[in-house]
Amino acid sequence: MTAIPNSGGSVVLSLDAELGWGFHDLESPPPQRVEAGRRGWSTMLKLLDEFEIPATWGVVGHLLLDSCDGRHADHPAPDGWFERERTEWRDREELRFGTDLVAALLEADVDHEFASHSFSHVLFSEIDRELAVAELERSREIATEWGESFDSFIYPRNEVGHRDVLAEQGVRAYRGRTPYREGSRVVFDSAIRDRSLLVDPVIDEHGLVNVPASLFLFGFEGAARTVAESVWADPMVRVAKAGIDEAVRSNGLFHMWLHPNNLTHERDDRRMRTILSYLDRRRAETDLSVETIGDVARRIESGVDGTVRAANSQPMSGH
Ligand SMILES: [Zn+2]
Ligand SMILES: [Zn+2]
Repeated sequence: MTAIPNSGGSVVLSLDAELGWGFHDLESPPPQRVEAGRRGWSTMLKLLDEFEIPATWGVVGHLLLDSCDGRHADHPAPDGWFERERTEWRDREELRFGTDLVAALLEADVDHEFASHSFSHVLFSEIDRELAVAELERSREIATEWGESFDSFIYPRNEVGHRDVLAEQGVRAYRGRTPYREGSRVVFDSAIRDRSLLVDPVIDEHGLVNVPASLFLFGFEGAARTVAESVWADPMVRVAKAGIDEAVRSNGLFHMWLHPNNLTHERDDRRMRTILSYLDRRRAETDLSVETIGDVARRIESGVDGTVRAANSQPMSGH
């Protein structure tokens, strides 16, 4: 199905907000990432506020709880799935719960989209249907207790699965996998080969709008990043700017994403500040808009219905 492009192009920023839940199933969770979750969350809220950029926040449902028994016996997860809550992280409530950070997100001046990142960060490509249903139901239940609901879903580790369950559970859109290469390869493809970074949102066979990712902003780290930064200021900034410029030029969609816990060092904060300030400037200078995943879904749904059409409704092509 061909999507109707937004006149003037648009940029989406999505975040996987998870604190400890992004790592609880790993044998050795990376300590810097685990410890950066809270700081990164607050830093991103501040930066997005400063540049008035709304983002889609996929929040792990468990973070909306004040407390739990560390067992969740009524949840059909495999044995041991919540074990870290009862062992190493028993006294690390700040990794397991995030009511303060969720409240800060909901109270932000910018109109962020509250989206789901499942209840306990299960991998939808591996779980059975019963658990997929339970993860959505539990997330919906807790959100309702907060007076919130969600239309969009971000799959843990981008493991797409059980899309029929999402549709049944009232989800309208999800972030699909990027069609492009990742990490140092995307830097090479974009900076050296001048490859496209735009994506085409489509309605899938379940009626869900798939808003694919263009670029993971922290896929190029460690020693390679340090070396590259001695040549170019920050290669990922260069790629992100190229994506923003391409969205302007081609009236297309550029979708960047990250985890708040990717902001482990000040240089990461600088990367985000540089990208967001550039996005803000290009938005002011051109017809570019910033959208959430939910905004894109509504635009695509109405375009397909034929009820609302963008002024310049040439189908996107060639990427
Ligand atoms: Zn728990
Ligand atoms: Zn995640």
